Amino acid sequence: MKEQLIKTTSQPTSSRISGGNKIKKEVEGKFDYLKEFVEERFQKKFPQKDFLSAWMEYNHLRDFKISDNVEDVGGISEEGHYIMRTITEYFISQAFKAMKIDMDDPNVGGEKGTPYRLAKMYCGNDLSDDTELLSGRWSHKPLMTSFPNEQGQKYPITKRVDIVSVCSHHTAPFSTLFRDGSFAVISYIPGKKILGISKLQRIVDWVARRGHLQENLTKMIYDEVCQAAETSSVYVKLSGLVHTCESLRGTQSNEGEFTSEFYGGEFGNYEMRREVSGG
Ligand SMILES: [Zn+2]
Repeated sequence: MKEQLIKTTSQPTSSRISGGNKIKKEVEGKFDYLKEFVEERFQKKFPQKDFLSAWMEYNHLRDFKISDNVEDVGGISEEGHYIMRTITEYFISQAFKAMKIDMDDPNVGGEKGTPYRLAKMYCGNDLSDDTELLSGRWSHKPLMTSFPNEQGQKYPITKRVDIVSVCSHHTAPFSTLFRDGSFAVISYIPGKKILGISKLQRIVDWVARRGHLQENLTKMIYDEVCQAAETSSVYVKLSGLVHTCESLRGTQSNEGEFTSEFYGGEFGNYEMRREVSGG
């Protein structure tokens, strides 16, 4: 990272700013001292785009929860997302330096070194990337196709999906993929609509690839399926997920396996839940 471009003067606090100055600072945001550095990167990436409007867009964007998506606070452009990712990379690089990690190590430093890779992992490559650990905070919501329930089907439609998520306490992954016998199941009883079920995994990824408590994630998946299928007869069970913040660090206990469920409507019936989840 080109340090010489970065002015390291401390940022003024808003309490010191008054009148017209205050408005200017509010518009320009709190990362002014990184502006030159970000602009240089931006011009290489988007030579045809207007840096200042993207910079203002990014600085106007409100903070939103680690479990939410940027659409909840009005959305962001590709250019605004790129600015966010670039600033994130800068601060990860600073954190590595704070930890006295040798940035001359070719496995860590360099133009697309570990801070670059981590920023991509936390931010996603762009607004269409749904593959990174926190990409669901930024990516567009996948379209959920549906069909009219012409046959009037009344039995549960059930699908097993994989969960890849990170806990909001440590941003350490938790998943169905770390242990045999761990699974996630989604079931719903159709009303007027049948969901194109192949899209279900994409919706789940979009919701899960953020920072979560497993219980809250379970409820969020439930809400998405209710909304898409237009019914409250939905059952979501995340069974035996391994939380690496417990299994790989700290106590390193096997107790880092969690099961959670959320249901509504006709799934108030225990026998029905047991039937669709296989026990
Ligand atoms: Zn944790």
